[in-house]
Amino acid sequence: MTSLWWDTLPEHLTAPLGEPLDGDASADVVIVGAGYTGLWTAYYLLVTQPGIRVTVLEAEHAGYGASGRNGGWCSALFPASVAKVAGMSDRESAIRLQRAMHDTVDDIGAVAQAEGWDIHWAKGGTVVAARTPLQWQRAQEEIAEWRHWGFGEEDYRLLGADETRQLVDATDVIGATYTPHCATIHPARLVRHLARAVVDRGGVIHEHSPVTELRPGFVRTPRGRVRGRYVVRATEGYTAKLPGYERAMVPVYSLMIATEPLGPEVWERIGLRSRATFSDGRHLIIYGQRTADDRLAFGGRGAPYHFRSGIRKEFDRDPAVFADLWRNLVDMFPAISGHVVTHSWGGALGIPRDWCASVGLDPVTGIAWGGGYVGDGVGTSHLAGRTLADLITGRDTERTTLPWVGHRSPDWEPEPLRWLGVNVGLRVMGSADDVEARTGRSALRARVFSRFLG
Ligand SMILES: Cc1cc2nc3c(=O)[nH]c(=O)nc-3n(C[C@H](O)[C@H](O)[C@H](O)COP(=O)(O)OP(=O)(O)OC[C@H]3O[C@@H](n4cnc5c(N)ncnc54)[C@H](O)[C@@H]3O)c2cc1C
Repeated sequence: MTSLWWDTLPEHLTAPLGEPLDGDASADVVIVGAGYTGLWTAYYLLVTQPGIRVTVLEAEHAGYGASGRNGGWCSALFPASVAKVAGMSDRESAIRLQRAMHDTVDDIGAVAQAEGWDIHWAKGGTVVAARTPLQWQRAQEEIAEWRHWGFGEEDYRLLGADETRQLVDATDVIGATYTPHCATIHPARLVRHLARAVVDRGGVIHEHSPVTELRPGFVRTPRGRVRGRYVVRATEGYTAKLPGYERAMVPVYSLMIATEPLGPEVWERIGLRSRATFSDGRHLIIYGQRTADDRLAFGGRGAPYHFRSGIRKEFDRDPAVFADLWRNLVDMFPAISGHVVTHSWGGALGIPRDWCASVGLDPVTGIAWGGGYVGDGVGTSHLAGRTLADLITGRDTERTTLPWVGHRSPDWEPEPLRWLGVNVGLRVMGSADDVEARTGRSALRARVFSRFLG
């Protein structure tokens, strides 16, 4: 079964964008991976330096990876906390990065509007409901932490039970955290419009062209090579498949389900009138949105990590995780019981060893990279692509001095340690939620592991 997003694309957006590479070619910039990271890089290169020769190589079709399958939270979430980024840099730089993340959400909306892309944009913010006393306590701590870094009510705030229910009427709500810095989007519409725009501006995309070798100055596919002064690695969750990058990033699966369109009597009970994205305060991440055609699309982690960073199409589907997602959704919104799940799917996202996304360009080799978003890549990849375009065209901007630029994460452990560590972490987080639900007591171990596994 394909994702809801691919299934609901208008026909003109599913049309092939470029022939497979056949023979040798050259470009100024060669980009590996046609997801948001690679395509925003190409887009901003072409916008800031029209005429620049940009070639994008994609193993499958543009938007095949996480960019075409995600939960559609166009958020300002950066995968590492402000405290962590401040530890790597300084207070002012960490705050500047978070503010840049706020701006990037609006920038995506502005580009979509200027380009005439209908990406089902609705900037309703994010509500993270606290549904147990422990979640409520964590919500208050989180807001106190934002205040410590100088972010006020206009950026992050607590909601009481009634206010929360006005936005999203989930069961057991005690309160929530709320931020306006998030829009709901149709992710595949964004990535396919973006790819189309790259081609329309003179960029070349070769779909069905897997890169088997990435080196300074060139990349190789089974049917040809492309030379270029700059080579951009934009392969995120798939990075471990590239020779030489096996331990750079682990792929962790996130899975989703979507209901049939729900009638007004159901929405009367659930709310989500502004289409705010929603979650709750459990450890093992869940995320949802009301789609433009009135479905609930809902996802979560919990699928196992596969030995040696395995990525296979069959890993996109896990009946036990789909069943769990449905149970959780009905638990939050009993009004949907009896309704039908029409789509279920999943995909790999990339986690670097220190959980810190990064973007950079090695001026000596000409190799650039962006990724490691730990499941928060819709907004972050836009900032990454724009920054990569600045770095490649040699422009000093407010973006090129942000503290994630040039950051290098250490490699993951070799197997079987990696398999053990990641899967134990995932299990502990899942069971910590069960323990908390049963005992009402904080599962401290989970908080330790949540630093390990997000
Ligand atoms: C189910 C799911 C839900 C998510 N929900 C959210 C969300 O709601 N909000 C959010 O912010 N983030 C979310 N994410 C994460 C977000 O989607 C990603 O961080 C983001 O899309 C990454 O974009 P990317 O371009 O870096 O990588 P991708 O979109 O994965 O693109 C990488 C591309 O590279 C191609 N590729 C890989 N190897 C090669 C090769 N050797 N040669 C050529 N091409 C290659 C792949 O086929 C792929 O198309 C979610 C992810 C998943 C899987």
